[in-house]
Amino acid sequence: MSTSVIQTRIVIAVLLSCLAVWLPVKVHEAAEVAALPVHYVPTNERIVALTYDDGPYPLYTPKLLHVLKYYHVRATFFVIGERAKRWPDIVREAARDGHVIANHTYTHPAYFEYLPPAQITQELSCTQHIIYDLTGRRYGFFRPPKGLVNHNLAATARADGYQIILWSVSADHHEAKTPEEMAERVIRRIRPGSIILMHDGRFAVRWRDVAATPIIIRALKERGYRFVTVPELLDKLRLIEKLRAK
Ligand SMILES: [Zn+2]
Repeated sequence: MSTSVIQTRIVIAVLLSCLAVWLPVKVHEAAEVAALPVHYVPTNERIVALTYDDGPYPLYTPKLLHVLKYYHVRATFFVIGERAKRWPDIVREAARDGHVIANHTYTHPAYFEYLPPAQITQELSCTQHIIYDLTGRRYGFFRPPKGLVNHNLAATARADGYQIILWSVSADHHEAKTPEEMAERVIRRIRPGSIILMHDGRFAVRWRDVAATPIIIRALKERGYRFVTVPELLDKLRLIEKLRAK
């Protein structure tokens, strides 16, 4: 056998063994990640959860709190820890109004899901402490930046006791340019048990989320929907799991 044929065979053997190692890991990873985050809660009850990411933001969060108070709607705010520390009064006010303040990391890092587990833990626990200091409450769930999850993040979150919360309906989309279009997008996609993604922070364009909120609330109330917080929605999930277990 010539040297080049032997070399080719070695290369093929190495590639095949890599594939054998790589394949099960990828399949396992996909299954784990898909099983973990909650996008919505299966229910026939017309309940939905409004969620706002990336705040607090002095420009828009107080305006949004005003709108939610007017309509007697309670929402869930996934706050960035360092922003909550910077604008504590807004967070306190939101909690006083009955909204749930939840964890959206401390610094909103890009590629959060690729950080070493110790750093993920630190980002989350730091924000948990701030939320607890400001509101007296903290919950065992969080939302990752951009909703990106991989095995590293899912495993770390699980080990730290967190449930990952994503969404099933996003008001923010490049095709929805006006508050009316954003509301239209949500109304078209809404189902009982939906989790709606909106934003109140980080960018000046978030005025649209504030303006879209009353349109969404009025339209969904007209259709018989009630607004609940994420923990209230998760309670429903636990009830379903209990029923299934029987
Ligand atoms: Zn975010």
